[in-house]
Amino acid sequence: MAIRDILIIPDKRLRLVSEPIKTFDKALHALVDDMFETMYAAPGIGLDAIQIGVPQRVITMDLAKKDDPKAPQVFINAELTWKSSESSVYEEGCLSIPEYYEEVERPAHVKVKYADLDGKEHEVDADDLLATCLQHEIDHTNGVLFIDYISKLKRDMVLKRFKKAAKRGENTRAAYENSTPEHRIG
Ligand SMILES: [Zn+2]
Repeated sequence: MAIRDILIIPDKRLRLVSEPIKTFDKALHALVDDMFETMYAAPGIGLDAIQIGVPQRVITMDLAKKDDPKAPQVFINAELTWKSSESSVYEEGCLSIPEYYEEVERPAHVKVKYADLDGKEHEVDADDLLATCLQHEIDHTNGVLFIDYISKLKRDMVLKRFKKAAKRGENTRAAYENSTPEHRIG
């Protein structure tokens, strides 16, 4: 197991469309182990493989509250099969866009088809935080970021800030250590 570096915008790999998993082998288990270790260390409540530079459709998640026991969940090849017309607004953050939070409106209720680590297919009926988090993470597998849903003006400001920081070679993660963990969706 190893903690991997999390890609930060404007890293172009975050815009890749990830490939589906076809072989549920030891390499996949090793990837998921690394993702959980990286996610818990961040800390975040969700992580997509592309955020550690692996363009494969793998999502790790743990929505357990701070003092509750860990509740790790893995969603492989996840895709939305249904979404409600009713929407909800949640203040989102992202491990790849540290220190930035914005309200995002998404369908309040979704159904998601996915495979587990053994390749067995499941469907989950999700609302609340799980619905938001699944949509945020499935977006990552398609190269979509939550800032794509905010106004162009706000998005341009965020991108400019991170492009500047990247140019200066600044460690944006260091500044991130003190921010509120509740919003770090992943
Ligand atoms: Zn994210």
